[in-house]
Amino acid sequence: MTGLKLSSRSNKKTDTIISIGNVKVGKDFTVIAGPCAVENEKQLIETAIAVKKAGANMLRGGAFKPRTSPYAFQGLGLKGLKILEKAKKETGLPIVTEVTDPRDVTWVSEYADVLQIGARNMQNFTLLTEAGKSKKPVLLKRGMYSTLSELLNCAEYILSEGNPNVILCERGIRTIETYTRNTMDISSVPALKELTHLPVITDPSHGTGRVNLIKPMCLASIAAGADGFIVEVHYNPCEALCDKEQALSPKQFEIIMKSSKFLCESMKRINEIENEYHSQTI
Ligand code: PEP
Ligand code: MN
Repeated sequence: MTGLKLSSRSNKKTDTIISIGNVKVGKDFTVIAGPCAVENEKQLIETAIAVKKAGANMLRGGAFKPRTSPYAFQGLGLKGLKILEKAKKETGLPIVTEVTDPRDVTWVSEYADVLQIGARNMQNFTLLTEAGKSKKPVLLKRGMYSTLSELLNCAEYILSEGNPNVILCERGIRTIETYTRNTMDISSVPALKELTHLPVITDPSHGTGRVNLIKPMCLASIAAGADGFIVEVHYNPCEALCDKEQALSPKQFEIIMKSSKFLCESMKRINEIENEYHSQTI
């Protein structure tokens, strides 16, 4: 892939590591969890406490929701950000929240530890440039019709503004399949790890749209070499105002965390074995 001046692995061999709170993304396996949208204080704080207890490293929650229908819940805006601020105070978890408008980047950055740029805005170049100027860590999601080359070029827009803190996210792409909400392109993980030094995470919630498929895809992400995952958790999934079909209960999330921990340890051992082989052949 040509023209990727700043994101390419060939120009920088070492993995980029981004420190956010206590976690080093790109080094420590990172789990971001929380509701699709911030709905009210009780919902967010209870969910935040539950995901923290289960071992999540960061809290997600949208205050600005890009919805297919203009009549669907659009998020609480500033009120939602203030609730996220409270949840951070309560749990210590850094906040990951979406920004949809270039004019909002500066003030949303006062509440966010990580600015999320969603799939629908991946190629909103003005938004990417503003996020680049902000110097905040950015979670850049793959567009639902985008190639890896397009994703990496979008990362370049942020990097070229002097912001090296970009995390890439595979969240599924549109294919002929309709059983799942999207088709989670698991091969994009090792492909991106080969192409770029930036951390790569997955979003099995939007990638599948189905509660029962989230755990297998979390585990597949670990096996594929992802640096983490982001999942949607709601303290009471049947009441979720947004993406109810893919909302994990705190118990389901806890099981995912336990299994993931186990698999991360196995992957460490697998990597050690592989490194031993490499050192022998050199
Ligand atoms: C989200 O994570 O809240 C979201 C809207 O995801 P995506 O942009 O991947 O659809
Ligand atoms: Mn969602």
